[in-house]
Order: sequence, then C-alpha cells, then structure tokens
Amino acid sequence: MKQTFWNKKLQAAQCYVPGEQPQDRQYIKLNTNELPYPPSPKVAEALKNMDYERLRLYPDPTQKRLREALAEHFALEKEQVFVSNGSDEILAFCFQAFFEPQNSAAGSAGKPVLTAEQGYSFYPVYADFYGVPLKKLPLMPDMQIRVEDYGQASQAVIIANPNAPTGLFLDNEALRTLLEQDRQRLVIIDEAYVDFAPESAVSLLEDYNNLLVVRTYSKSRALAGIRLGFALAHPDLIRALEIVRDNFNSYTVDRVAETLGIAALEDGAYFAQSCANLIKTREQVKDRLMALGVELTDSQANFLWLKHPRLSGAAVYQGLKEQGVLVRYFRDPLYAGRVRVSIGTDEEMQVFLEAFSKL
Ligand SMILES: *Cc1c(COP(=O)(O)O)cnc(C)c1O
Repeated sequence: MKQTFWNKKLQAAQCYVPGEQPQDRQYIKLNTNELPYPPSPKVAEALKNMDYERLRLYPDPTQKRLREALAEHFALEKEQVFVSNGSDEILAFCFQAFFEPQNSAAGSAGKPVLTAEQGYSFYPVYADFYGVPLKKLPLMPDMQIRVEDYGQASQAVIIANPNAPTGLFLDNEALRTLLEQDRQRLVIIDEAYVDFAPESAVSLLEDYNNLLVVRTYSKSRALAGIRLGFALAHPDLIRALEIVRDNFNSYTVDRVAETLGIAALEDGAYFAQSCANLIKTREQVKDRLMALGVELTDSQANFLWLKHPRLSGAAVYQGLKEQGVLVRYFRDPLYAGRVRVSIGTDEEMQVFLEAFSKL
C-alpha cells in the first residue's frame, strides 16, 4: 500500500546494506571494520568538558574551527577542507557535484565513471540512485587494480585505496599514473583505511587539482559513532561539495562531532600508537592464517580478505557466528568463498583463530 506514494526512483532503489549491529548477544565484532580500541583519552576529556548549554545553539555552518584544525594537520589551507556527516555522505555529494547523469545534456554525459569491479559496494548504489553511468573494471588475477585499464575515455574515477574488501594498496606512483592519464578528469580516492597503509595521496594534492581525497574518523580514529568524514582537494572542488550540502542541509556536522573531531587530532601520539598496534596484530594474524594454509590478500587495511580452503563464505560466516564471532560475508557471486574479517584486539583475534581452526 505505502508504495503507492513512493516515487519511481525509490521503487527501484537498491540500498547499501551495512554490516550487522546485533543486539541479541555479545559477539566478537569483526564485521564492520571499527577500531577495536577506544578513542583517544583526549576525546573522553573533551566530551566530559563539553558545555551542554551550548547544544541549544546551531553549530557553525562553515565549520571553521574543525576545518582549520584539519588544514593544519595536513599542512593545507582551510579552503581545501570539507567536513561532513561521515565520508559516505561526502561520497554521495561527490556523485551529485561532479558526475554527469546518464540523461544529462553535458558533453561528458555519455562517458562512464570508472571504478573497480570488486570495490566499495556503496559506489554502485550511489550511481544507480543518482543515474550516473558507472563502469566496473575487473581486477587482475592477484586482485590488484590494473591502473592502465583506467586510461580509457571516462568522466571520472572513484576507487578506495586501500581497496575494500581486498585490502590491497596502490602506491603514489601508481596514483600519479592514474592522475596523469587525463588531467581534465577527476580522480576520487577514498582513503577510509589509509592510516593502516604505507602512504597517503594527500601529498599529491600540490601537484594535481584533479584529485579529491576522502577520509573518515570512523576507522583509524575509532569514532564511527560520531559520524565525521572529510574531503581534501583544490578549493574549487571543495566549493562544489559546499554547494551540494547547502542545497540539502546547512548543518551536517553537529557540535559534539566538531568538538571531538578537533580533540582527536590533538592526540597524535595515541593515534600513531593505535594504528601501529593494529598493524602489528594484522601482520601476526596474517602469518598465523598463512601457516594454516588459508588464502588471503596482503591487506594494508584493518581487515583481512580470506578464503577457507573448502567452505563457502556463507558457511564460514555461519560457523563463526555460532561460535560468537561476527565477520562480514557478501552475497555477490564475485566474492564467493571469501569473508572479510576486521582486525580486533590480540585477544579477540586469538578467539577468532581458534574458532576458525575449528571449521
Ligand atoms: C567505512 C567506509 C566508508 C564510510 O565511512 P563513514 O565515514 O563512516 O561514512 C567509506 N568508504 C569506505 C571504503 C569504507 O570502508
């Protein structure tokens, strides 16, 4: 009945399916790539010291303080920084700001936006919802992105780096190749996991105005709960994101997120230590799994992408769930046999390894 009132677009919408957040029992949660450690103690302190009375007031629509803090952190100008309610929101804004829909009269409309066939599964959802032609390019047999394939005629490129769910990483030399293929073509690099990887594309911003880097507080900063993401790029690109936002919602970042976002940046030592710990655990678990004969990619993110020698992805997911360990499995036949396992604490990974060995 209610569908009679839905518009055509909504009737056909696919929707991204986020990982489960179960309430029924305590799981070891290795399914949504949250950091297993708490946010910085500086964040706790800032939260405690927040003046609740000020919540009466709208936040700063220009987010001056947070953007200045981020600009300083990355040695950029405030005009090169956009902040928003999680990086998914920024990605959605990008589809509206930079990509021509299929039926647009613009010259680039016939050309596709390129992405990896096995990549972040939100991109096809946005493409469908905003009517943008998206072309998915297959990975190489080793599951790496083949940069040369992206030289074809296209209106833009959007990829995650490290890629999800493979965890594989392209270095800045490979990204330069991508950026040089057509300097009139925008390249969006979604760096949700880059703090667990060797280097960031942010240093390429001074050479390329066709680059836009998207970042989030949700993974490496252990702040998925405050919904805070940001984009770094040439001021002209940032301005475009502001225009999309200002036609949607003037206040996408609330006062709590702003305050905690600034506090998190001030604790560089804690941040470096959490990333280092995570990477150490990741490498140890990789070694253990390889010793068990498990096939896995050399992930540079905070998750592993692995394949059980005999069981299907669904069976691994189910078998682990019954033992109280939650991992992510995707129904897509392209991903058959694989599960994605977020890196938890050393103790959690010990339980995971024991549960996995029992399968
Ligand atoms: C988790 C994730 C995001 C979303 O991050 P939010 O800031 O929490 O919206 C974006 N891109 C990729 C590749 C991710 O894995």
